[in-house]
Amino acid sequence: MTILLDGKKLSAEIKLEIAAEVKQLIAAGKKVPHLAAVLVGNNGASETYVASKAKNCEEVGFMSSLIRLDEGISETALLGKIDELNSNADIDGFIVQLPLPKHIVVQKIMEAIDPKKDVDGFHPVNAGRLLQNLPCYIPATPYGIMIMLERYKIETAGKHCVIIGRSNIVGMPMSVLMSRNGYPGNCTVTLCHSKTNNLAEVVRSADIVIAALGSPKFVTVDMVKDGAVVIDVGITRIESKDTKSGFKICGDVDFENVAPKCSYISPVPGGVGLMTIVGLLKNTLNAASR
Ligand code: NAD
Repeated sequence: MTILLDGKKLSAEIKLEIAAEVKQLIAAGKKVPHLAAVLVGNNGASETYVASKAKNCEEVGFMSSLIRLDEGISETALLGKIDELNSNADIDGFIVQLPLPKHIVVQKIMEAIDPKKDVDGFHPVNAGRLLQNLPCYIPATPYGIMIMLERYKIETAGKHCVIIGRSNIVGMPMSVLMSRNGYPGNCTVTLCHSKTNNLAEVVRSADIVIAALGSPKFVTVDMVKDGAVVIDVGITRIESKDTKSGFKICGDVDFENVAPKCSYISPVPGGVGLMTIVGLLKNTLNAASR
């Protein structure tokens, strides 16, 4: 039997828990957690992500603010904004929505964020602390996946976990988390990428597959062993005649054909995407509780 890793149900449950914690904080005379988002320009997808983050903040009782900046803002002016947010005691954590315009060096901006307010977990200090298993902000998507594995009580110790994709925001931190000494964790991890040889063969040997490459339906039924756990991180917009908008979201896994072979599988949409929001909310709550 295949069990669906239901991000919709699980994220709703966890958001209720977060909301209850916020009430407790307020009852104890503490401040309301406050997440800020910086949006440069008006990229359609970024607008949607930022609006969704604000809506989720409202649902759990956080304050949220949006700092809208012009597409043409200079790097220096943006760094100035980051400084302001770093020193604004009312804001517990903030994110700079990516992508940024081409004239801005993303790494410079990420490194300017105070690691204590870096609730996206992208600052090298947080990445380094993650590597050494020290308290840190874990990037939201890997954090959400860890919560999902934990809540579904998926066994991980001694398992072979194959991760496809090695980005700094998903694949790489995911590989660190799955190999660390803890639960979820204690896996033997293989991190695959665009230069991996015999990728299908490697994936076939996995007990747990985490697909994060951004290639629709890349993981096919012949690549997955019976009873594997499959986590689909991919989000690609593809054209569709079946929706009003003219597009739909597609994951990295050929869900329809792969699902019957799995013990657990996360759908797209309705899986990891919603858990990513949970990861961000949890990081913000931690930031506010410090
Ligand atoms: P990225 O483009 O930064 O990294 C992609 C990685 O996949 C690279 O390491 C590359 O080496 C690897 N890759 C590319 N083609 C490959 C191939 N044919 N074989 C093996 N490896 C290959 O992407 P990212 O930011 O890590 O995002 C990956 C996917 O996850 C995207 O679809 C993105 O939209 C999605 N995503 C989803 C969430 C979520 O909340 N669900 C969050 C972040 C990213």
